Amino acid sequence: MSREEVRKWLHENDPLRLAELYSQADTVRKNYVGDEIHLRGLVEISNHCLQNCAYCGLRRDNVVVERYRMSDSEILECAYAAVSRGYGTIVLQSGEDYGLEPDRISCLVSRIKEETPLAVTLSLGERFPEELASWREAGADRYLLKFETSDDELYERIHPALPNRVYSRKGLLRVIKDLGYEVGSGIMIGLPGQSYDALINDLFLFCEMGLDMIGAGPFLPHPETPLGQDATYARLPEGEQVPGTEEMAYKVIALTRILCPDANIPGTTALASLNREEGRKLALQRGANVVMPNLTPGTYRRCYEIYPEKLCFHEDAEWEHAQLMQMLADLGRPPGKGSGGRRGGSCTCAAKEMLL
Ligand code: SAH
Ligand code: SF4
Repeated sequence: MSREEVRKWLHENDPLRLAELYSQADTVRKNYVGDEIHLRGLVEISNHCLQNCAYCGLRRDNVVVERYRMSDSEILECAYAAVSRGYGTIVLQSGEDYGLEPDRISCLVSRIKEETPLAVTLSLGERFPEELASWREAGADRYLLKFETSDDELYERIHPALPNRVYSRKGLLRVIKDLGYEVGSGIMIGLPGQSYDALINDLFLFCEMGLDMIGAGPFLPHPETPLGQDATYARLPEGEQVPGTEEMAYKVIALTRILCPDANIPGTTALASLNREEGRKLALQRGANVVMPNLTPGTYRRCYEIYPEKLCFHEDAEWEHAQLMQMLADLGRPPGKGSGGRRGGSCTCAAKEMLL
């Protein structure tokens, strides 16, 4: 699919035409990654963060949020809960928290790998290459770090650089790949200042990077952040600014599937937070094949407020699991067996022939 075709789809508003796009994406999904839906249990192990991202409620300068760090036994209990629910992967996510000592993470990863059949994904922010290497050695399978936007100028504006950092997120993703991790990345859709050109570049960058997992969810303004406090902050004029709408998120998921046919693509929690009833289901019918149910204990959930009204603030893990199982049954799609890893996630754009 060419840049101009992608642009046309991003501007398309006719529901009948969009139904064609979604059906094409669903066909590519079925042909390349099959019907299985991979369930990856998310545990938000700490909300301390050294970074000050202008979009995120966990940013360093947010003094309103109550900070927590889970204990090893709490985290291991979540891992056992993931096994008992039949999930293939556990995702340990946090702010960029140096109170999570590298050795402690290594021990946790080794224990999870020894005591469970789970694949382990880490999403602990922009950690140093030596730390990333030691966790890989301890058995971590994947690392998840979104580059958020391919527009360097926009990225620098919303993601202030910390001193003494050698790598940008994009640079670090190369290091992570070279260490042998399966690599997950992605973007936010509708960031103030995000143009259609930038979004098109994001989509083609997904392909170039050969990502194993690609997450694209809507940007949701948080009141305790610079981007949430000023609705006009850096916004582009109407027509140039990508809207962070539910429909735009489905378009991006569908186009990602068509451009990167064998990648793992989640129906993101941010999208499900915009449409609690149907968000995930529609994403799974429009190109997605992964869901990340939240396993974080109830006491901590509300504190992991990346954006407001996140799905799971009002739900618990048991309820969410039952909902998901019902949804899979309604869709007639089985839960994934194993971890759902697809090393290399090459993008040959081989789906092209099918679509033209
Ligand atoms: N600290 C780690 C992991 C936690 S943040 C990291 O930054 O990688 C995980 C993701 O949440 C971010 O990559 C970003 O894409 C998303 N996020 C943060 N703030 C958001 C917001 N206001 N709306 C939507 N997504 C947001
Ligand atoms: Fe910290 Fe990640 Fe939020 Fe940035 S996006 S403030 S690194 S938790």
